[in-house]
Amino acid sequence: MKINILTIFPELYNSFLCESIIGRAIASDKIEVKIIDIRDYTANKHKKVDDYLFGGGAGMLLTPGPIASAIESNNLSKTMIINTSPRGQVLTQALAKDLSEHQEITILVGRYEGIDQRIIDKYVNLEVSIGDYILTGGEIASQVIIESVVRLLPNVLSNCLSSLDESFTNGLLEEDHYTRPQNFEGLEVPSELLSGHHLNIAQWKIKNRLKKTYFNRPDLLDRYKLNDDEQNYIEQLKGEKNEENKN
Ligand code: SAM
Repeated sequence: MKINILTIFPELYNSFLCESIIGRAIASDKIEVKIIDIRDYTANKHKKVDDYLFGGGAGMLLTPGPIASAIESNNLSKTMIINTSPRGQVLTQALAKDLSEHQEITILVGRYEGIDQRIIDKYVNLEVSIGDYILTGGEIASQVIIESVVRLLPNVLSNCLSSLDESFTNGLLEEDHYTRPQNFEGLEVPSELLSGHHLNIAQWKIKNRLKKTYFNRPDLLDRYKLNDDEQNYIEQLKGEKNEENKN
């Protein structure tokens, strides 16, 4: 996959692109990342990229000229262009999966109050938000998007199964995990996980996932199709919660 990043702060990507999964994916040619500095496409000697808002309002806006020039000069207008924006579609695992199917994506990173609407209308295919809060700039948002997408590409994770049973992939949160020692300061690992009995382990995992989801992200259960056993377990959890609330 090829990823182009249009930004006015290229240096904010230095360590992100060198370390860990992204660094290894670049080193092994699984992805190619091109950073394009929007300031290189300004026509003024001070490399100014922002200006005041028509109609008034606080702050500055990225002007359209340098962005359009950066897109056209690098032949990016036909690629999937994403703009980081709190007004965009919220990033989910499903959206990351969709984006991972593209051969080339371009992320247009916002700053100040964002970018001129005419650039969005003319070039942007998708506005993406990483959550309902405001960041100072879209650089971190773009890195979140890139990381969520790249780890879904074939052979990027060293254990290709790890992305298959993570939170959200099957509609629920992931179960609790434990490692050695078996007894940590008097706290034991759940006995089911030590039993070696595959069915008991699988049943423990699904119950634990349901419980975690019910308490932390009940909204996910609205979209998850519960079978009869799972529905009964959720009813049991509801009963336990009601009892707790009474006490
Ligand atoms: N005035 C804008 C608004 O109210 O929607 C917020 C601008 S914000 C200070 C500057 C830039 O940071 C945005 O253009 C966007 O690129 C990025 N940004 C801020 N919050 C974000 C979020 N939750 N998701 C994605 N990008 C975000």
